[in-house]
Amino acid sequence: MITVVKCPTCGKEVRWVPENRFRPFCSERCKQIDLGAWANEKYKIDGSDEAPPSDDTSRDDLN
Ligand SMILES: [Zn+2]
Repeated sequence: MITVVKCPTCGKEVRWVPENRFRPFCSERCKQIDLGAWANEKYKIDGSDEAPPSDDTSRDDLN
């Protein structure tokens, strides 16, 4: 059985397998985005925050 998690950045389902070195993210891009957001949060540079595109899908785990 393969564990599936949701990418913290885009919510896409990600298989938690050794081959996926970006887990829990779905891709390197999402990982970088998340790290970037974290850095912005920490260092609070100018007020130029770009919110990631969010499609308002339900985040319930009641699939
Ligand atoms: Zn993602």
